[in-house]
Amino acid sequence: MIKIKNLHKSYGDIQALKGIDIEIKEGEFYGLLGPNGAGKTTTINILSTILKPDDGEIFINGFNLKTDAKQCKNYIGIVPQEIALYDDLTAYDNLFFWGKLYKINNKLLSKKINELLNLMGLEERKNHKIKTFSGGMKRRINIACALLHSPKIILMDEPTVGVDPQSRNLIFEALRKLHQQGTTIIYTTHYMEEVEKLCNKISIIDYGKIIAQGSINELKKLSKISESIIIYSDSELKEKKEIISNSIKIPFDIYDNNIKFYTNNINTDLSKIINEINTIGINITNIELKKTNLETLFLELTGRKLRD
Ligand code: ATP
Repeated sequence: MIKIKNLHKSYGDIQALKGIDIEIKEGEFYGLLGPNGAGKTTTINILSTILKPDDGEIFINGFNLKTDAKQCKNYIGIVPQEIALYDDLTAYDNLFFWGKLYKINNKLLSKKINELLNLMGLEERKNHKIKTFSGGMKRRINIACALLHSPKIILMDEPTVGVDPQSRNLIFEALRKLHQQGTTIIYTTHYMEEVEKLCNKISIIDYGKIIAQGSINELKKLSKISESIIIYSDSELKEKKEIISNSIKIPFDIYDNNIKFYTNNINTDLSKIINEINTIGINITNIELKKTNLETLFLELTGRKLRD
């Protein structure tokens, strides 16, 4: 559905994008994850034709963004980082204003506005002025504005920055519903938890380059650090090495007060290990799980934390 090929963009001598290649299939919830300044907004702004690339090509449903921008734009709804609403107008009137820019007829628009206010959990506030809304509520209306023309693709640039937890959850719920209905979503963030919760495909961007790409599971497999389950005990462990090895067929090391099992399937191995350890008669005093996540992968790939 979307093909981004060899995208380059510089601002003066700052090279913001150094050759980005991304392919997004219809119906994917695609995450662009990267720290501040990685190039996420630049990529989104080029996709939404706000910026022109220095080099590279973008195809949306077979249309070339450079030569067929109008056709491409019909597919896209853009949720920018900045909130673009009129404070003195009500939520309904703001949406009505945006809907008219899309040239939607009044009857259809009214139906769509009510549907979107409902999706965003704001139907009861529809006749209240935007200036009485919290930041999170404004953000939800901003998202609704991008959905009025029922776009097949939504571009979202860090939609939860500065948003309260309740609004964030409502935004997640709404996005899940849209995704279930078949909408393709491109979502930029520097919060790896959001990407893990929402996205089924990801590109990790750093200094204008993609450093890893794939599903969460594919990305986790790139990590050289295996996951582990550490069982702490006050029992004498070293003498139990053979019996543990015979009854639990998972690689492990024994230390003075703990046994470390190396696994890539914590969820299924945990109960198995606990049951066997209890059967052997080892007293468990504590359990520690070391999971690989996108944060640890980023650290492994770049030597830096995602939020440095
Ligand atoms: P953030 O999460 O902070 O929004 P980002 O991943 O979206 O970061 P971009 O905003 O795309 O990153 O910025 C990429 C690089 O380009 C950064 O080094 C940034 O400082 C630089 N940059 C972005 N916009 C401009 C501009 N208008 N003029 C000069 N440099 C810019």
